[in-house]
Order: sequence, then C-alpha cells, then structure tokens
Amino acid sequence: MMENQENNRRKFIVSSVQSVGLMTVGGVLLGGYATKAKSSPMVLRPPAAIKEEDFLTACVKCGLCAEACRNRDSNIDRSTGKAKKSTLKIAKAGDERLIGTPYFVPRDIPCYMCPDIPCVPVCPSGALDIKSVLNKKNELDINKAKMGLAVVDRESCVAFWGIQCDACYRACPLLDKAITLEYQKNERTGKHAYLLPIVHSDACTGCGLCEKACVTEKPAIFVLPRDIAQGKVGSHYVKGWDVKDQERVKDAQVFESKTGINKGSALDYLNSKDEF
Ligand code: SF4
Ligand code: SF4
Ligand code: SF4
Repeated sequence: MMENQENNRRKFIVSSVQSVGLMTVGGVLLGGYATKAKSSPMVLRPPAAIKEEDFLTACVKCGLCAEACRNRDSNIDRSTGKAKKSTLKIAKAGDERLIGTPYFVPRDIPCYMCPDIPCVPVCPSGALDIKSVLNKKNELDINKAKMGLAVVDRESCVAFWGIQCDACYRACPLLDKAITLEYQKNERTGKHAYLLPIVHSDACTGCGLCEKACVTEKPAIFVLPRDIAQGKVGSHYVKGWDVKDQERVKDAQVFESKTGINKGSALDYLNSKDEF
C-alpha cells in the first residue's frame, strides 16, 4: 500500500522534478560541451538512456540518476550494516568511460528493474528519455527499458553441454518472456534432454540479473549494448510469411525478370563484376 502511494506520488511529481532540475543545471548546460565527447562503445547506461552518441553530449553529469537509484551506495545493507554497492556508478578518471557519466556493470551490480524507475524522472537534461519508458497508460514501465541485450555464449554455457542449469532463467524478472528454456534431446547420451536458455530481444531489458546469476567463472550470458549485440538485416529482405513486414514494402517498385529464372548460381550473380 505504502509502496503504491509512493509510486503514485513519483508519477505525479515527474514533470515538476524535471523542470526544477532544468533550472538548477541551467548554468552547467550553458557551460556547453563543445569538445566531442568520447566513450567506450561497450558501456551500459541507465534505463531510458538515449543513443550513446547523443547521450554523451546530452548528459550534464549531474549524477542525479545515481543519487536517485533505489540501489545506491548510500543505502545501508541491514545484514552487514555496511553501505551497499550501487547499481549506477559515475565514471571517474581511469574508468575508460566519459568522466562524470553514469553506467553500470551487471556482473558487479545489475539493475534491479525498479517498477517506478526512480533514476529516470530526475534526469534534467533528456539524456534519460522518460517517454521511452512510458506504457500506453502513460505510466512508468521498466519493462520497456532497453539498456542492452543479453547474449549467450553457447560454448561456455553449461546448459549447452547438457548439464542442468537454469540460474539465468530463474534470475530473469521477465521469465518466459525475455528468456525461455528450449527443450532439445541430448543425442550424445540418447536419454537426457538439454534445457537451453534462449534470449528474446523484444522483451529483454538488459538489466543483467542473468549475467550476475550465471554460475560460470566468466559469465556465459552477458549484456552488451544493443548496437553491438545485434546485426541488421537491411530493408531489402522481406519476411514473406509476416503480414506486417509485407506492409512495410507494399509501395516498393517490383522489377520483373525479362529472362525468366536465372539458371546460374548465386555466386555467378554476386561475382558478376569480378574477374578471376
Ligand atoms: S531501475 Fe532501479 S536499480 Fe535500475 S538503475 Fe534505476 S533505480 Fe537503479
Ligand atoms: S543521465 Fe541525466 S541525471 Fe544522470 S548524470 Fe546525466 S544528466 Fe544527470
Ligand atoms: S538482461 Fe537477462 S535477466 Fe534482464 S531481462 Fe534480459 S534476459 Fe532477463
């Protein structure tokens, strides 16, 4: 009940916090970021972060997101009485990330996918774009976050060896959506099954709870920035079985072959301009 009230209150104050924040950091913004900012392409940013190259210039390095993080280092761990390690860290000199910008390292401390995402509404600069994590009811929805994408290294994932392990699957807050377990017969033993973790890019938020939970020495499942983790098919490929995808190219010009079916091999065609 208290939690709900707190969430509603947060939703209500979202816009006011943002405008106050903008005024507070106005001076910093005016200071400008004339120099072209550089950062490691492998860095993972907080929920709702805009594209990395734009983030580097938009982020005013105020640290408010890290300050607001539910899992921040000023929180005291009740069991140990010590300060907790925080999810969001602010890059320092030598961190190989643009100094002053927020990032997280899932194997160390993942994002716990707080339902009210307290780190996002406080951002005064638009570096964290609140609109990207609003659902159809205009509510904050952490499931819409796309911090990165989990990738499985099949060679080091013990489930692909046939050893029973579902640590990542069980750790995932979007179990059976972001990770499913795929059943396959183990042909080597003939009497066992593989239960293979499969990540689904449409649902994975990149929170890294799976990476943190992975039992291997170096995680066999790990989160990468989406730009790095994903390929790109190109708009000229169309899924003939997908009505939505066909809709995308419905106005495209169709060229008919005047020579009928090409009897040559694909390599003949692809290499037609090459001389050997
Ligand atoms: S969603 Fe929660 S744990 Fe994740 S970065 Fe934001 S406040 Fe921190
Ligand atoms: S992302 Fe936003 S809140 Fe976080 S440090 Fe940058 S400007 Fe401040
Ligand atoms: S990063 Fe891992 S735990 Fe988080 S949503 Fe994606 S698959 Fe699930």
